Amino acid sequence: MSSHKIAVIGGDGIGTEVVEAGVKVLEALAALEPDLAFDFERFDWGSDYYRRTGRMMAEDGLEKIRHADAIYFGSVGDPDLPDDITLWGLRLAICQGFDQYANVRPTRLLPGLTGPLRPELGREIDWVIVRENSEGEYAGVGGRAHRGLPIEVGMDVAVFTRAGIERIARFACDLASSRPRKLLTVVTKSNAQRHGMVLWDEVVREVIRDYPHLTVDWMLVDAMTQRMVNKPGSIDTVLATNLHADILSDLAAALGGSLGIGSTANIDPSRARPSMFEPIHGSAFDIMGKGIANPLGSFWTACLMLEHLGEKAAAGRLMAAIETVTARGEHLSPDLGGSANTAEVTDAVIAALRGDN
Ligand code: ATP
Ligand code: MG
Repeated sequence: MSSHKIAVIGGDGIGTEVVEAGVKVLEALAALEPDLAFDFERFDWGSDYYRRTGRMMAEDGLEKIRHADAIYFGSVGDPDLPDDITLWGLRLAICQGFDQYANVRPTRLLPGLTGPLRPELGREIDWVIVRENSEGEYAGVGGRAHRGLPIEVGMDVAVFTRAGIERIARFACDLASSRPRKLLTVVTKSNAQRHGMVLWDEVVREVIRDYPHLTVDWMLVDAMTQRMVNKPGSIDTVLATNLHADILSDLAAALGGSLGIGSTANIDPSRARPSMFEPIHGSAFDIMGKGIANPLGSFWTACLMLEHLGEKAAAGRLMAAIETVTARGEHLSPDLGGSANTAEVTDAVIAALRGDN
């Protein structure tokens, strides 16, 4: 039996609380599955580490986690520190350092939960959004000039490369192919952005020729927001740029019920370096230390990690336990309208895993 080596980075605020709950659930799962084992190594990086050392992570941090099979991450962000330090110093340093160019966010309204859409529409939501995670509008290229003058300019240059588009398009096509509906929606804005977005369309079009079994739908990003609200059942797998998918994923998270549930994978599909799995919520300092953070997002994150590790059966078993708990509705945290704390939700999921009660 091989043991999966997991680098655990709780980070800031409730990040550590929900990740520790996740480790507990994964250990309970491993105790039930004869061929499943984990070797967790914890790293206390984040804003408190920064206050002590002047760095968000160890200087050789990437080297320390490079040989992990996966990174299980909480959240990063501190009300007293700028994002330039916190976000860029830890989360983005890992995403970029390990070239995790595919950001994947599944969205589904879990049984028993309600989102803002009419119930019959809400139940149609079963999406996975693939976000280009390494270039595009967030390439960090641009500049400022003529400061303070009437002619002052600030520019952010969206950088699209053939290689960058091709690899994310191929990843999205492979993912869409693995899902029952074989339906890919490509999001664009090439009617208004006449260079990078046109290249995006051209290269995606070339890649999808290799996937004749896929139904491919093209949507302008503005129209896509309406589609997600009005016809959620017409969408399955979505491919979008860094900025577009950033916005669409937040809309998806809202339509999927609660911030406390959603999860995301940052993947290096080459598998040369570890991929990173995290709940979508931030460090939520308003509820930190109260023991009431919803850990379900971190559990769903663990499912994504298990799938990536090739542990499909275990991932399915954990997802089923999460859904048992949401469907019963007896152990839900306050953000979902319940009164259970983090530990009680965790215990309820472990009981469901074991098939107790
Ligand atoms: P960041 O900039 O780090 O993303 P944010 O302010 O955008 O932070 P969050 O920290 O995710 O957002 O929190 C937004 C709101 O949602 C807060 O009121 C927080 O308490 C609530 N929230 C977020 N995650 C959870 C959770 N897991 N359980 C319960 N409430 C949560
Ligand atoms: Mg946020």
